[in-house]
Amino acid sequence: MTQKISVLIIEDEKSICDFVAKTLQSHDYKTMAVQNGKDGLAQLTSALPDIVLLDLGLPDMDGMDIIKQTRQWSSVPIIVISARAQEKEKVAALDSGADDYITKPFGTNELLARIRTAIRHNNKIVDDPVNANRPYSAGGLKIDFEKRLVTVDGKEVHLTRVEYKIVSLLAKNSGKVMTYDSLINQVWGPYADGNNRILRVNMANIRRKLEANPGEPKYIFTELGIGYRMLEDESLA
Ligand code: CA
Repeated sequence: MTQKISVLIIEDEKSICDFVAKTLQSHDYKTMAVQNGKDGLAQLTSALPDIVLLDLGLPDMDGMDIIKQTRQWSSVPIIVISARAQEKEKVAALDSGADDYITKPFGTNELLARIRTAIRHNNKIVDDPVNANRPYSAGGLKIDFEKRLVTVDGKEVHLTRVEYKIVSLLAKNSGKVMTYDSLINQVWGPYADGNNRILRVNMANIRRKLEANPGEPKYIFTELGIGYRMLEDESLA
């Protein structure tokens, strides 16, 4: 018998809490729900959930403090539930160690996809190296990391070294948001200018090469004010 994946929901809005719990239970997850930060931190240490869904606006504390405290001792995936449109808050949560976010109102498919992706990326640390280099494939886009070969519908796409680096980072994190800062850091190094312009220029070129309609991308999505998210690898979805 396999153990069910356990999800801790820290959310004071009852309707959202119930929706999430019901959805997850019907998809074979085990759920625990608490309505405030204090109980959330207590459950984190006593129940050791496999994943956490965290509302940033809790009655007794800022969800950001829960992220920071948890990250001092645990790498459990944390997905922020955000009602707020403020990108700054989401970026701050991601920078503090949250793995991803989901914006209210959200649907079942989005919720399940975020959870699946966060768990998969969390497990990757212990994955064998063969798995880490397995090709990416979604829609007509394929990336062979060993050959550094990118194809769309079977046709080879020529990317510059920097473009390839951006695309392969996004592909290895497929389904998960990557902030502008984390991409810039990993492509140009920690001393790079934090300005997004060079990243945006490269992304425009990448989209021209990969997307049939760069204005309506189907492989790499813009998360406005936050970063980019690449279509989840279909063999893992
Ligand atoms: Ca709330």
